[in-house]
Amino acid sequence: MPELPEVETVRRGLEQTAVGRRIERVEVGRERTVRRTSAQALIDGLTGTRITAVTRRGKSLVCPLDSGDALMIHLRMSGRVLVANRGSHRPPHTHVVMTMGTEELRFVDPRTFGEMVVFDPDRASVELPELGRLGVDPVADPFDAAVLRAALAGTRRGIKAVLLDQHRVAGLGNIYTDEVLHRAGVRFDRPADQLRPVEIRRLAGAVTEVLAEAIELGGSTLDDTQYVDILGNTGSYQEHHLVYGREGEVCLTCGKAPIRRASVGGRSTFFCARCQR
Ligand SMILES: [Zn+2]
Repeated sequence: MPELPEVETVRRGLEQTAVGRRIERVEVGRERTVRRTSAQALIDGLTGTRITAVTRRGKSLVCPLDSGDALMIHLRMSGRVLVANRGSHRPPHTHVVMTMGTEELRFVDPRTFGEMVVFDPDRASVELPELGRLGVDPVADPFDAAVLRAALAGTRRGIKAVLLDQHRVAGLGNIYTDEVLHRAGVRFDRPADQLRPVEIRRLAGAVTEVLAEAIELGGSTLDDTQYVDILGNTGSYQEHHLVYGREGEVCLTCGKAPIRRASVGGRSTFFCARCQR
């Protein structure tokens, strides 16, 4: 599933290619992508408008339109946003096409969990309530140890589960929580409210560093996901993962212990028991 660095890479691509261009025509081929409203609502809401900016909250893209409405795009498991020349071959599972001049913006989503919706920002709390419930975004918002401490307050759950909770910290998923916890030297199952101040400082620093490095490298593209940027390029941060997907390999940090795998909420968790306490 695309996480903050992948969605941020898409955001930057859209900012460069889509902002200011008039959306001349909108096609919707799969109603499930627009399930929150309808195909006609998306077509009516976008046709003739221009995207004025591309913002991101956690894993959600929000594009204000010159009509006063905004377009929300969520990639979920397998969604991709691609910009390609009009008339070029459309990949399978292209569910929405927005024509802008000589190019098309395509929403491609094999597993169809992704979503597009035009909403009224003044009514966001009603039309898209989950946006308002998102926690701090470590890239879009000011973020340091004090902010992280506040986000973790009042829960005894394991730190990985808490970091995955989008209501507390928005944008981290399974890959980046594992990489962040490894860099900070903290085990995934430590109760969040029992981390020492020095550990919270290390964790906040690791969040900032790992996300910045991953964004710089265009995110992570794994064998089992289909994440690519808007031009169809894969990311390369997967080559820098220290623990994620490395079960049984010798830890690259300590060079001594094997990377182990555990399960948190049914999801694989990779860690080094020697480096992470
Ligand atoms: Zn290690």
